[in-house]
Amino acid sequence: MPDLVTLGEAMLVVRGGVPGRPVPGSPAVLSFAGAEATVAIGVCRLGHSATWLGRLGTDTGGDLVVDGLRGAGVDVTAVTRDPDRATGLLLRHQRTADRVVVDYYRDGLAGSRLGPEQLPDGTIESARILHVTGITPALGDSARAAVHEAIGRARRAGVTVSFDVNYRSRLWAPDRAGPVLRELAGRADLVFAGADEAELITGARDDLGSALRKLGPGEAVLKRGAAGAAVVTADATVETAAVPVTQVDPVGAGDAFVAGYLSGVLDGLAPAQRLHRAAVCGAFAASTAGDWEGLATRAELLSFDGQDVRR
Ligand code: ADP
Repeated sequence: MPDLVTLGEAMLVVRGGVPGRPVPGSPAVLSFAGAEATVAIGVCRLGHSATWLGRLGTDTGGDLVVDGLRGAGVDVTAVTRDPDRATGLLLRHQRTADRVVVDYYRDGLAGSRLGPEQLPDGTIESARILHVTGITPALGDSARAAVHEAIGRARRAGVTVSFDVNYRSRLWAPDRAGPVLRELAGRADLVFAGADEAELITGARDDLGSALRKLGPGEAVLKRGAAGAAVVTADATVETAAVPVTQVDPVGAGDAFVAGYLSGVLDGLAPAQRLHRAAVCGAFAASTAGDWEGLATRAELLSFDGQDVRR
């Protein structure tokens, strides 16, 4: 009975080890990445249990993702392995001190072929939170159907549905993504969005938290990068500043923030406390390299500003 179930795409990552133009023989580090996988690891580091559902090749990349998630404490027993398609790949290098280049190799590969039939009976229904993102429906019709099926099962079982808009302009254009993401947000209890994403799916230009809530979710969380975050519920709007840190790699901060927030939901914290925990988790991720490697443990939540956000 996991605290959190999530589904999505995870890819093998090849990360250039030194700034500059990669050439044969350049050092690189292998890892893996995936927004939902990062959230799953994040809640595990905070002491909760999480299950990740997805589709990987039967190749070395797939093995690395499974080993990595399992090593981080995530339940991967229901992951589907596809003998016909490779695991997706992400090549990331620091071209200059200020410019990161990311190439994706994912089209038509195993992760994008996730479908509703890959969702095991009872897993979502037995969780406390289902977390999905707007990346998965961008991968194709079957992946989008899987997200809707997962939400349907969660709703019928009374499981809280969390949705991070996570609009990815490299995967689809705003006019195609907008209606799909709006519909998904409307089926969630809790929605996370950046300002641009909130504008995309609501058409509003201000009071974005309220505009998101009008779509259906009772709780809307706005992520504002180094400017902090806000949550809007039926009762109140609560804001928090970001925790000041030296930014090293902002990729993954949003997912770390979501993990912290959902951990607060699981612990029954009030909105202000869960927002603060989320901001600390986002700061950890923003100030370390890698998508998930810098995620905070529960014991570490004391750090930075001296405030205890462990409970
Ligand atoms: P996303 O990665 O989804 O675009 P954001 O960049 O808004 O999300 O980051 C999510 C949260 O992480 C922010 O609301 C903030 O609390 C924290 N965060 C992000 N970047 C920084 C930073 N440079 N310094 C401190 N906190 C940050």
